[in-house]
Amino acid sequence: MNVAAVVAENLQSVQERVAEAAVRSGRSPDEVRLVAVTKYVSSDVIRHLVTAGCKDLGESRPQALWQKDAELADLPIRWHLVGHLQTNKVRRTLKLERLVCIQSVDRVELLERLEAEAGKLERSVDILLEARVSSDPTKHGFARSELPAAIGMAQRCQFVRLRGLMTMASLEADADQTRQEFTALRQWRDELAEELGAEEELRELSMGMSRDFEIAIECGATIVRVGSALFRGLSL
Ligand SMILES: *Cc1c(COP(=O)(O)O)cnc(C)c1O
Repeated sequence: MNVAAVVAENLQSVQERVAEAAVRSGRSPDEVRLVAVTKYVSSDVIRHLVTAGCKDLGESRPQALWQKDAELADLPIRWHLVGHLQTNKVRRTLKLERLVCIQSVDRVELLERLEAEAGKLERSVDILLEARVSSDPTKHGFARSELPAAIGMAQRCQFVRLRGLMTMASLEADADQTRQEFTALRQWRDELAEELGAEEELRELSMGMSRDFEIAIECGATIVRVGSALFRGLSL
């Protein structure tokens, strides 16, 4: 099979699994957005994915995002940044017109810089705050105790628009522990939304990757970030 056919078939299979997990958890399939994480593949392969109907794409490295944005300038892509963003790369990243969400805002300093630079560019930008639900000390993100202040600061921003929370499960976690971690994020969201009157700003929950997106949907994910499952069968 050629690359276009493999990618289209993988996409269809992932979309079906997303829909089934949504229905299983009593939700409508269009309440869950699939973001295809394209960090493993070149722009040629991404092109096939967009042609097959997937427009929300995620990259984890700012430079790769800039490069692919330029190479794919003719396509109706909605870019999400899902990885660590260094403060000195904020301005260049915000210049991408098709950037729709920075899912990985993991520190207050980054929030401040985003607000300042977005203001200078007179653009708004949607963000998610990355939360650290696992005990894994190598993971980025806010601890539970740090979230109220970060949310409060985001609520006061003019150009940065808080939309929700994002997390990654621990790498070594089995299915049970993964479910516990995703359930924890859901609970944090519910508590914080009520405490801070932030129902609207905390609507989105981005959690779940190739190996655990069905569990994440069952735990309330509204966004799943799927990479390798979409590129299975290609020699990468
Ligand atoms: C790479 C990556 C993903 C996708 O991972 P897969 O296991 O390949 O689906 C999701 N989220 C983030 C933040 C990533 O870096």
